[in-house]
Amino acid sequence: MRVLAIGIHPDDVEISCGGTVAVHAARGDEVVILDLTRGESSTNGTPEARAREAEAAARILGVTRRVNAALPDAGLRSDDLEQRRAIVTVIRSVRPHVVLIPNANDQHPDHAAGGILSQHAVFMANVDGYATEEGGARQARWGVARSLLYSGRREVRPDLVVDITTVYETKTKAIRAHATQVGTGKELLATPLTDPRFLSVVEARDRVAGRRIGATFGEAFELVSPLGLTDFSSLIKPEA
Ligand SMILES: [Zn+2]
Repeated sequence: MRVLAIGIHPDDVEISCGGTVAVHAARGDEVVILDLTRGESSTNGTPEARAREAEAAARILGVTRRVNAALPDAGLRSDDLEQRRAIVTVIRSVRPHVVLIPNANDQHPDHAAGGILSQHAVFMANVDGYATEEGGARQARWGVARSLLYSGRREVRPDLVVDITTVYETKTKAIRAHATQVGTGKELLATPLTDPRFLSVVEARDRVAGRRIGATFGEAFELVSPLGLTDFSSLIKPEA
C-alpha cells in the first residue's frame, strides 16, 4: 500500500506520526512525506540546514522519498487555490491509499491553514474536472481511501491508535535528527522544542495513546469520514 504523510514544517511528521510512518516503511510499503514548507520562518535553523536534517530523518524512518512543496512558511492560507493545487499535484503523483493530515485545530496559523488545505486537496484530487499537470501531462484523478488526522498542539479524537512500540527508538532518533529544532545548543533561541523536557512530552503522549490499546507506545488518529461496515465481524480480532 502507499501512505502519504503531510507535515507543515520539516519536523512535524516525525514528532506527530513518525512512528506510524516507520511502521509502514518497515512493512515495505511505499511511504512518502510531503513537507508543505521549508521552515524558512522558524526561530532556529536555516532552510538548508533543515533540508539536510529532514533528509537524514527520512533515511532513519526508512521512507521511500520526501518531497517539499516549498509553500511560504508563515504564509499558508486555507483558501489559497494555488497552494491547494500544489498539494493536489503531489497526491495525484503519489496516489496514496492513506493520507496523514495535521490537525487544523491548532494555534499555529500555518498548521491551521495547512490542515484545511490538505483536507481540501484530498477531496479535489478525486474531482476529474479539476485539472493538474505533472511533466506536461494531465494527471488522472485519485481517490484516497482514508484520510486520518494526527495530533499537533491539540489532540485529535483517538478513533484509531497505531501500535508503534517496535519502532519507538527509530521515531526518537528521527526527531533528534532535527538538531536545529530539538537541540540544546547555546546558539539556539528558546522554543518549546529546545526545552530539554520536549522529548519526554512526546513520549508521554505516545504512552497515553498506546495505553488506550494495551500497547507501550501508540499514535492516535481521527477519522475524517466514518468507517463503513457491512456488520460488526470485522471489529473482532481473529484470536477473540
Ligand atoms: Zn510545524
